[in-house]
Amino acid sequence: MEDCIFCKIVKGEIPSNKIYEDDKVLAFYDISPEAPVHFLVIPKSHIESANSLDENNVSIVSHVFIVINKIVSELGIADSGYRIVNNCGEDGGQTVNHMHFHVLGGRGLKWPPG
Ligand code: AMP
Ligand code: ZN
Repeated sequence: MEDCIFCKIVKGEIPSNKIYEDDKVLAFYDISPEAPVHFLVIPKSHIESANSLDENNVSIVSHVFIVINKIVSELGIADSGYRIVNNCGEDGGQTVNHMHFHVLGGRGLKWPPG
């Protein structure tokens, strides 16, 4: 999608600090980290939000979780724990309309979120 910053990151038009990439997903560090470890995993194809998931594209979510599993092991936070967050829509706090999963760890995280 033309004006989508995450599509631009996928295309290499905007730089990112990449952690992992394959044909379906890209993982990169969040530019404004909220925890010692804070990265994002996005599908390479433009899916606007969790609202846009259906039978045809939902398999990307299981792939994202497998990739997260691999990355958290490599970053050493698998055992200490972490949080996977998907913000959806205005009330959910979604600011980039290309579905993404935040992974936060490296410190104790409070619950519930504000
Ligand atoms: P959300 O508020 O759930 O839509 O999350 C969007 C996230 O994208 C925020 O945590 C931003 O800090 C992050 N972000 C925005 N632009 C970039 C960028 N160019 N590189 C890395 N992370 C970004
Ligand atoms: Zn996009």
